[in-house]
Amino acid sequence: MSTLLASLEKALAADNRPILFDNDTWHTTSELRRDVLHVVSTLYEAGLRERDEVLIGLPNSYEFAVVYLALLQSGVVISPVNPKMPAAELERVLPRVQAKAVFLQPAQHEAWQSVLEASGLSSTTEIAPPDSAMEPIVLTALSDGSMQSAQEAHESGAPDDDAPAVLMFTSGTTGQPKGVLLRHRHLLHAADNVINSHQLTEEDVTYCMLPLFHINAQVIVLLSSLVSGGRIVMVDRFHASRFWNDISTHGVTWVSAVPTILSILSKLDTKVPEHRLRFIRSASAPLAPAIKNRFESAIGVPVVESYGMTEAAGQICINPLPPALRKTGSVGKPFGLELQILDDQERPLGAGQVGEIVIRGKNVIESYVGLEANSSSKWRGWIFTGDLGYRDDDGYVFITGRVKEIINRAGEKLSPREIEDVLNGHPAVDRAAVIGVPDALYGERVVAYVVPVDEQAAASGKLVDELGELCKASLAHHKCPSEIFVAKSLPVGPTGKVQKHLLRDATKVHLL
Ligand code: ATP
Ligand code: MG
Repeated sequence: MSTLLASLEKALAADNRPILFDNDTWHTTSELRRDVLHVVSTLYEAGLRERDEVLIGLPNSYEFAVVYLALLQSGVVISPVNPKMPAAELERVLPRVQAKAVFLQPAQHEAWQSVLEASGLSSTTEIAPPDSAMEPIVLTALSDGSMQSAQEAHESGAPDDDAPAVLMFTSGTTGQPKGVLLRHRHLLHAADNVINSHQLTEEDVTYCMLPLFHINAQVIVLLSSLVSGGRIVMVDRFHASRFWNDISTHGVTWVSAVPTILSILSKLDTKVPEHRLRFIRSASAPLAPAIKNRFESAIGVPVVESYGMTEAAGQICINPLPPALRKTGSVGKPFGLELQILDDQERPLGAGQVGEIVIRGKNVIESYVGLEANSSSKWRGWIFTGDLGYRDDDGYVFITGRVKEIINRAGEKLSPREIEDVLNGHPAVDRAAVIGVPDALYGERVVAYVVPVDEQAAASGKLVDELGELCKASLAHHKCPSEIFVAKSLPVGPTGKVQKHLLRDATKVHLL
């Protein structure tokens, strides 16, 4: 049995311990173990076997956790997808995975049925264990005879550390999503790194509001909590109006969030009730220092910024917990893996020098699904993150942008992040995105899009003038945007990041 499964088994061994709150109910360890066993036998009856691939199309819920654990235990490869996506998007996602089955809610099954059937996924079983508080879910499997029959002997043993566990796709922020196959060992090491860096124990209660179809909620929140013996309060998504009440009522001690959520929370007028929060973690996109400071001073909860990516099962760098120094603007230090910063000749750089971040470690994949492994012999087995950054003298990492987004203006390489930080510093700006667009004279010129905090106030055109002045005062001339557009919104991907490749397509931006 894999070390991940053994750790989960140990953590869930005690009977009748409340473990997961969902739908007004605390589900216990005994219930969870029993429901997982039921799903394991159902999926076996349906003909699923080790290394088969299945989609989980369930929202954040107790049922998601049950199915996820049952699939891990059976060695079936999990590919979680957004349960709210329209059928047309499912049609584009299905060919990426050799899905033999899909787990979903009955209502979603109706919405997706015709697309699923067109792919042969038409043999449907309802899962509703007797005497269980589990909401019914549907398992739809291939009906073309490629499934094993239930009678066929179940030969292989439990999955080992090397067994494939989760097939995820990167967010597609810089292009097409890339396939990442995480094995049992990757998941366990990422969870261990989170447990150790956040000092998680059985006393901790987390709040699962980020979508479980992304790696952050799956590993950082769900697996880390389960392995450490902590408790989880599950919500379908972030609700600003419910947040503080839930945190206070359930004694939540830590939360995984993204900058957009912290920005919303920092602007709420609601009185913060008594709570047990030790810290809030922020990852997935740059956290503007203004948001961090506003959050910490108004609400008084430490914000711990960290850096993760799908390829590292969610965890690369992390700021230490107080009283150790959390450096504003830094994503913290590498934790439990190796990190190097390379120049464009792939030579390692020292402190203060900006280059591409590369990583290697027990939670990091070695290559992408269906893509050639990195051919450079010296760095084979390392993942080139596509992120640019530097380390300071204390080893804290600062991300300065992405390799693919670097703007080349007349040979001068410009980082959009530096310009975005200046624009984001204006109090009327909610979010800024800077790109390079083709230019006859300079090769590329700098173009900025900003979403204002208040659309009405921005309508006068004064904002653009003020931003132009701000850039002139803060940036060298060649870095100042040639154009600044005020937009109602920007195209964002599934993880809330601005998809800059879409910004180059004017039809994708809704200008004010
Ligand atoms: P794709 O690889 O398909 O272009 P993606 O890189 O956005 O998409 P994810 O794996 O979801 O896909 O996101 C990882 C990336 O998110 C990191 O490589 C980094 O660019 C960004 N990121 C994560 N945390 C932070 C952070 N704290 N600050 C800045 N950027 C971050
Ligand atoms: Mg990426």
